[in-house]
Amino acid sequence: MKLAVIGAGIAGRLLTWRLAKRGHQVTLYDKQQKGEESACSFAAAGILSPLAELEMAELDIFELGNHSMKLYPQWLKQLTTPVFYRQTGSLVTAHGSDRVELDHFYRVIQRKLGAEKASQTLVKKIAVAEKEEDLSHLGDGLYLPTEGQIDPVGLMHSVMNELEHSDCVTIHYGKRISTLSNGQIEAEGTTEAFDWVFDCRGLGAKNDLPLRAVRGELLWLQAPDVSIKHLTRLIHPRYRIYVVPRPNNLYLIGATEIESEDYSPVSVRSSLELLSAAYSVHRGFGEARIINSVVNCRPALPNNLPWVKTQSGITKINGLYRHGILLAPAVVEQAIKEFEQEVNQEIGNVQYAN
Ligand SMILES: Cc1cc2nc3c(=O)[nH]c(=O)nc-3n(C[C@H](O)[C@H](O)[C@H](O)COP(=O)(O)OP(=O)(O)OC[C@H]3O[C@@H](n4cnc5c(N)ncnc54)[C@H](O)[C@@H]3O)c2cc1C
Repeated sequence: MKLAVIGAGIAGRLLTWRLAKRGHQVTLYDKQQKGEESACSFAAAGILSPLAELEMAELDIFELGNHSMKLYPQWLKQLTTPVFYRQTGSLVTAHGSDRVELDHFYRVIQRKLGAEKASQTLVKKIAVAEKEEDLSHLGDGLYLPTEGQIDPVGLMHSVMNELEHSDCVTIHYGKRISTLSNGQIEAEGTTEAFDWVFDCRGLGAKNDLPLRAVRGELLWLQAPDVSIKHLTRLIHPRYRIYVVPRPNNLYLIGATEIESEDYSPVSVRSSLELLSAAYSVHRGFGEARIINSVVNCRPALPNNLPWVKTQSGITKINGLYRHGILLAPAVVEQAIKEFEQEVNQEIGNVQYAN
């Protein structure tokens, strides 16, 4: 079959790769030029956190996220270029004055998961110093042993490398698709026919779907005086942050969540909030260097849930919101399943008619 994937963010890239591995001929289109990194997926911190996200999210996110956590290790083994990935658990903590917020977090997770499951296997109450000596001042916390992280930029490059070396994939950079429908796409006044079209445009699909943009800002710090090993969330009534440790004392501090389609640079206010909260976690961040600041907008639907919809000739993936890196493998697998079921049904119908 002749397939088109529109959008080379995490959804479109992983989808193209998995379709090609199943023997399909796929043409991938993106409006970005080769080497450009303006897709939202390049901005992500790479937190793979189905459980901690449950505080704000629906159980669907937890279940899809857990499925992705099973797929990631298998898929990463199939990449030629290795990608930084860890599943060493995460910490959730709060300052003494905000203990009530941490207790609330724990109760919400317990209620959504069921108390027994939450308390025995997935969420452990600990003294933070058991996992991070330098953070003993934070007192108590929660340890979520199944959570992980990945380097999204490394993943995006590594998957693209597979696509560029695949005989089943053709890539068109710098091509903005103006309209797409089942079996057809239009770019720069020319129309091309396909057996199936996959729409993975993220916010680029906002004229067709009720999408909204949620701005996120993230700072990259080089901090030789800090040695935090675990992904750490600070629960705070106003400035919630996560600290994502990467090799060589690199830390990602994020992320703001602002209802706006605004791609302008990180604001002073957000920088102050993110950095003061980081400094309150570890004084060593005071001497850190800000080596990068990242802004992008997350594609969100009104219910903040991911969306996979298949009709004859077209499958749409969107609404990955703040969990796109986490959810992409599960969502891509679901899209391929729906597409193949629909195609098999159509073939069955034709044979029956004959
Ligand atoms: C600061 C920040 C931190 C984040 N941290 C995390 C995290 O830790 N963990 C996590 O799971 N998620 C995180 N996210 C969310 C995650 O980044 C998104 O959910 C995800 O990147 C969405 O992927 P996507 O493929 O749907 O969209 P995108 O990455 O935006 O890709 C869409 C692609 O479609 C292309 N396109 C659009 N329109 C057209 C068109 N007309 N023609 C051709 N091409 C087109 C675009 O150029 C783009 O390449 C974070 C997001 C932000 C902003």
